[in-house]
Amino acid sequence: MSVQNTPSPTDGGSPYAATKKAYPRFLNAGAFRRLKWLALIVSLGFYWIGPWLRWDRGPGAPGQAILVDLPGRRAYCFGIEIWPQEVYYLTGILIIAALLLFFISALLGRVWCGFACWQTVFTDLFVWIERLFEGERAQRILLDKAPWSANKLWRKAGKQICWILISILAGFGFIGFFDDVHLLLRDLLTGEAGVSAYAAMAVIGGCCYLLAGFAREDVCIYMCPYSRFQSAMFDEHSMIVSYESWRGEPRGPVRGAGRGRPAEQLFAERGHCIDCRMCVQVCPTGIDIRDGSQLACIGCALCVDACNSMMDRVGLPRGLVSYDSSFNQQARAAGDMSSSSPMARPRVYIYLAIIGLVAILMAYSLMTRKTFDVNILHERAPMYVEVSGGRVRNGYTFKILNMVRGPGHFRLTVEGLNKATMSVIGVDGDQMETVDLPVDGDSVGTFRMFVTAPNASLSGKKADLTFALTNLDTGKVVRRDNLFAGPER
Ligand code: SF4
Ligand code: SF4
Repeated sequence: MSVQNTPSPTDGGSPYAATKKAYPRFLNAGAFRRLKWLALIVSLGFYWIGPWLRWDRGPGAPGQAILVDLPGRRAYCFGIEIWPQEVYYLTGILIIAALLLFFISALLGRVWCGFACWQTVFTDLFVWIERLFEGERAQRILLDKAPWSANKLWRKAGKQICWILISILAGFGFIGFFDDVHLLLRDLLTGEAGVSAYAAMAVIGGCCYLLAGFAREDVCIYMCPYSRFQSAMFDEHSMIVSYESWRGEPRGPVRGAGRGRPAEQLFAERGHCIDCRMCVQVCPTGIDIRDGSQLACIGCALCVDACNSMMDRVGLPRGLVSYDSSFNQQARAAGDMSSSSPMARPRVYIYLAIIGLVAILMAYSLMTRKTFDVNILHERAPMYVEVSGGRVRNGYTFKILNMVRGPGHFRLTVEGLNKATMSVIGVDGDQMETVDLPVDGDSVGTFRMFVTAPNASLSGKKADLTFALTNLDTGKVVRRDNLFAGPER
């Protein structure tokens, strides 16, 4: 499908021309306007309420349901706790998110840009506040042109104060996911929070203020790479916002005596577009959708709501500006009013199958995830020590990760090395065939241990051996291969 590479709505087509400020008319009604409100409430609700949700993980554990604990190197999401070595879960989430974006774009076009992207959501909120203080589109244009006065000053100042407050909240909402939000709020208010907390809040809040307050949809047109490559994901069955020119042209206003005539007579020999420009006035990027699909269109569908309301007024069917696939639009232009579902193609099912597969793999991996792990490092200086009785001793450093809240009890044995015995510094006993190692809950136990074996156990300079660590609480066993070094024989 073709998309005009129009860099900006109001710059005459040059990518270097300065953009002109858009003054979108605010729509109170319409199905897509209501969907935008819903997306705004859900996404900002999650953003601002998310850090305050609680989740009981037992004593000593963070009680915040969603938390990225950078100092503790842990991430929490309700009952799931991710350790640094399990970062592959993040990879899985990113893969699912990317596939979902492909799937939704192939199906519903730029629905992410128009409804759910946080740039769109915050811009929507900022424009709504602007309208509260400065009035509707025409009043805002007049106010900007008017000389400074007390009236202009309080309206502009009121808007800026609200924007700054929201930006501060945006910054706080973000850092609230990275620290205990109750303590963080107290520390921020008393000036006791760390410099990094104030700096992160300033950066996020500053970006929110500049991008949503001033740059607005220019971010979507000029800065966001997604708009540049997403048309590659579209095909003729993807839903897009477009003007049905076969029905709308030749356009023209309804004037004079024509106003009183029935719609069938009035529009019998002309197009249905009454050239009211409502679709242009509500557009946040200020483009005219009647010029064709353009990169500057973020797919918010507000022009669909605007045109539908005009069609209702003049008694014509809705859908002159429609949110539909180009396949259906072309079929209607050819007189075929049946419509095909965007789901009716193999591509969307392939996306769904891959998303389902990755989700099942992740769920399986989460359900069967290890509750403990072990890392073993063979000491190299020296590689071995010859001890009395024709025996050789090797040193190892053990790190046992106990990933549950309660204390862990582990039993270590050596396999594959004849007559091997162990001793662990700090653990009672010497030359043992098995060693019991306790590790505190939710922590890493580090042990230095020695394995001793007769020189005769080695056939050369080294032998293979396996450490088997059994979790006595669950019965699960982890095995790690290593080597045992000795003198040349
Ligand atoms: S043309 Fe319509 S769908 Fe596209 S950005 Fe403007 S109002 Fe939104
Ligand atoms: S809102 Fe509809 S009728 Fe009015 S100018 Fe746009 S396309 Fe034409």
